[in-house]
Amino acid sequence: MKQLKRVKISEALRLASEGEEINVKGWVRTRRGNKSVGFVALNDGSTINNIQIVIDIADFDEEMLRLITTGACISVNGELVKSQGQGQSVEIRATEIEIYGSADPAAYPLQKKGHSLEFLREIAHLRPRTNTFGAVFRVRHHMSYAIHKYFNDKGFYYFHTPIITASDAEGAGSMFEVSTLDMNNPPRDKEGRVDFSQDFFGRQTNLTVSGQLEGELGAMALGAIYTFGPTFRAENSNTPRHLAEFWMIEPEMAFYDITDNMDLAEDFLKYLIRYALEHCREDIEFLSKMYDGEVIDRLNFVVENDFVRLTYTEGVKILEASGEKFEFPVHWGTDLQSEHERYLVEKHFKRPVILTDYPREIKSFYMKQNDDGKTVRAMDVLFPKIGEIIGGSEREADYNKLMNRVKETGMHTDPIWWYLETRRFGTAPHSGFGLGLERLLMFVTGMTNIRDVIPFPRTPNNVEF
Ligand code: ATP
Ligand code: MN
Repeated sequence: MKQLKRVKISEALRLASEGEEINVKGWVRTRRGNKSVGFVALNDGSTINNIQIVIDIADFDEEMLRLITTGACISVNGELVKSQGQGQSVEIRATEIEIYGSADPAAYPLQKKGHSLEFLREIAHLRPRTNTFGAVFRVRHHMSYAIHKYFNDKGFYYFHTPIITASDAEGAGSMFEVSTLDMNNPPRDKEGRVDFSQDFFGRQTNLTVSGQLEGELGAMALGAIYTFGPTFRAENSNTPRHLAEFWMIEPEMAFYDITDNMDLAEDFLKYLIRYALEHCREDIEFLSKMYDGEVIDRLNFVVENDFVRLTYTEGVKILEASGEKFEFPVHWGTDLQSEHERYLVEKHFKRPVILTDYPREIKSFYMKQNDDGKTVRAMDVLFPKIGEIIGGSEREADYNKLMNRVKETGMHTDPIWWYLETRRFGTAPHSGFGLGLERLLMFVTGMTNIRDVIPFPRTPNNVEF
């Protein structure tokens, strides 16, 4: 084959210079045609759009042409010409074709179009090759980049917090343990309990549920940091909004109070959505056409409107007065379920909502305590279709108040002694929040199951790919 520079399909489609000889490589999406001419829709992942390859059957080897079936990978030399057909501006008139890899039509699972999302989850090794998942994973990339760009441009530092930790940021269970002990025959102490002093780290360890505690150490030195990494929760909940392994973005800022924190969260989300509308337009339009015709309206709506801010107490009053039949009853003191959150957002305010000042009993120990003795300076950002997309708070900066709360909740201080020291040495008012990347992606793409916005979802009984 003649050596030509490979051009990505996204670029070839933009090229105006007709008559140019180029090389494209990619996977066959469809092939149709008749005895004399073949049309191949080729995709290389660089764009949702395929490029059409026109093949003059008489010019090529029959054996080779037989291998050009859906899923096969080919390299094509040819001339870029104005397209005769509809739906594309240019196409490639093939002069040479090389088969990189065939895909037996009898065995290739993506032979036909229109598979259900459930079926595609069972072939997660191949689903990135579909239009849907190509689009979703491109959006995922662009959102990840935009997150780094946003914080970098604002002078935040990317601070790497550990994945293996000896602390539990939530003060509750639902963690994956990390151990090299022999599970069939672990060493035991005198009381018969597993002796973790003989484990790899000399103590019990787990996969992180949040980088926040370590992130606060960063903020108390660098001023403003963010983390962006994998996060693990052994929640056996199996909801369409929870993963056992997800990616969380956690900014943490010295000298920010709760209002600064809310302002940042709102600005951040609007920036990301604006970025998606600007840079992922074709992919989102495709997803909108296929799954959710209102997604672009929702995105514009969030960018154009102020988020409603109100307290948990006010929110509960609205829910109680709503007359709505909720699956979980609601009264002051209960943790809000997503049905409650979505009622406030979708039915009552019809705008994103930031709820603040939650009862301290249902929130974590590190949240700043209000003077009323009942509530803490928490903030949850609630979105249409999603419910909670961000959870955060102003942090308790007072050593004694923090210690009181630690004792009240019955937490052990020894695994977090280093965290408590931030309040002994140069403590400062500070705030932060956590955004779940996959929740953001659900909102931006309109996908309704969180398993469909991460390449390899981890949920109970699901770890094959
Ligand atoms: P939820 O109430 O929805 O279970 P949470 O209150 O436990 O969430 P936080 O601890 O506040 O969550 O975590 C911050 C953010 O991380 C959440 O707002 C959400 O966007 C995301 N998140 C939390 N748990 C999960 C999960 N299991 N899978 C995916 N994203 C999650
Ligand atoms: Mn939360």
